Amino acid sequence: MARVRTSGTDAELRLRKRLWREGMRYVLGRKLPGSPDILFVRARVAVFVDGCFWHGCPVHYTAPRSNIDFWKRKAGENRARDDRVDRELAQLGWRVIRVWECEVEEDVDAAATRIATAVRSSALTRAET
Ligand SMILES: [Zn+2]
Repeated sequence: MARVRTSGTDAELRLRKRLWREGMRYVLGRKLPGSPDILFVRARVAVFVDGCFWHGCPVHYTAPRSNIDFWKRKAGENRARDDRVDRELAQLGWRVIRVWECEVEEDVDAAATRIATAVRSSALTRAET
């Protein structure tokens, strides 16, 4: 599991700093389903920074060598829970964006831009309705 280096929290912090520097003002959304990592309240955009290992990122998920069935099931359960959380949030009117921790590590600007674009377009849509 040498690839599992950084915790989701490191990637999350880096992304938050980048967004803040861009002038994007967010809050931390611990009270919503799934406890989103970053919330843009006015645009109603909820962001999760998903750990590659725990959430089974297609690029970096490498199955551990022991207890393979257990870990496979665990990643499957996590993904099922992510889907459920996404649906719950959508029902509450939130748009959900999931960013892999590796996306943040490889290109924090691209991740921040993806979020900024969604926030701006959501804010726009909401202003029109
Ligand atoms: Zn990854």
